[in-house]
Order: sequence, then C-alpha cells, then structure tokens
Amino acid sequence: MTERTLSIIKPDAVGNNHIGEIIARLEKKGLKVVGAKMVHLNEQKAQQFYEVHKERPFFKDLVSFMITGPVMVMALEGNNAIKEYRDVMGATNPKDAASGTIRADFATSIDENAVHGSDSKENAEKEISFFFKPEELLSRTR
Ligand code: GDP
Repeated sequence: MTERTLSIIKPDAVGNNHIGEIIARLEKKGLKVVGAKMVHLNEQKAQQFYEVHKERPFFKDLVSFMITGPVMVMALEGNNAIKEYRDVMGATNPKDAASGTIRADFATSIDENAVHGSDSKENAEKEISFFFKPEELLSRTR
C-alpha cells in the first residue's frame, strides 16, 4: 500500500553534514521524497510538534535539542513507507539500533539520535500537515 510518512533529519545530523548520506539510504530503500524543506524550529513549534511527549521526563531536553540548529524535513512516499522508514531509521537508542541503520551509523545518543519518523498512519498525516501545505507535496510523475 502506498503511504506517506514524515522524516526529520535532526540538528545533530544536519550539523555533522550527514543530510546527503541519510537521504541516500532512504532512496536506496525505494522511498521517494515528495516534499522537502529546511527549517529552524523555535521553542513553541518544537513543543507543539512533540506535544504527545509533553509529560515525559525527557520533553524539555528534546525540545531544547530540536531548536539548536536547522532541521531537514521531508515527506516520503512509498510502499509501506511508515514501516520501511522506521526499519531504515533503527531503534530510538542508537545503542540498540541494528547495524546498517541510520541511527546506528549517524546517531550519538538517545538524545541526539539523527532522525525522526512517523510511527503510524494517523501521526504521519498529522505530522506532514504540520510542516507542509498541500501544494508543497508533489506527485512523483516520474
Ligand atoms: P522515536 O519514534 O524512535 O523517535 O522515539 P519516541 O517517539 O519514543 O521519542 C521521541 C524522541 O524523544 C526520540 O527520538 C528521542 O530523541 C527522544 N527520547 C526518547 N526517549 C528518550 C529518553 O529516554 N531520553 C531522552 N533524552 N530523549 C529521549
């Protein structure tokens, strides 16, 4: 089933100049970029994006980290895109991430873990519309 999911290359990976290598991994998996932009989140926007985590002990650290530098936000499309992208991302804690995954290779800690990916169809839709207007999402006509 063709799906869309939201990817964020987080400030650590952008800062380390790993944007290209990360996108290469997605493309090799067959995922297609259908929308992309760089943004530097402010505190309010980061809090809003991670609202589901607001009661978690790590919420403050997560928001502080996400506003340290620009991020690369992408809408990805593909067959089972949500799961395919979660698989290529690897586990939340890079120590647990399978070898060859993005987090195993580019993340340094659970706080600075290189990428975000939607975890369900419902969240994917919400997260894509958080960053993209409908006209900023393109059909891959070829
Ligand atoms: P994900 O879907 O794999 O990104 O993981 P979650 O949705 O559970 O958590 C969202 C983000 O919060 C993670 O990607 C981490 O950046 C951060 N996070 C999760 N657990 C912890 C933790 O125990 N400590 C810290 N500092 N950050 C965490």
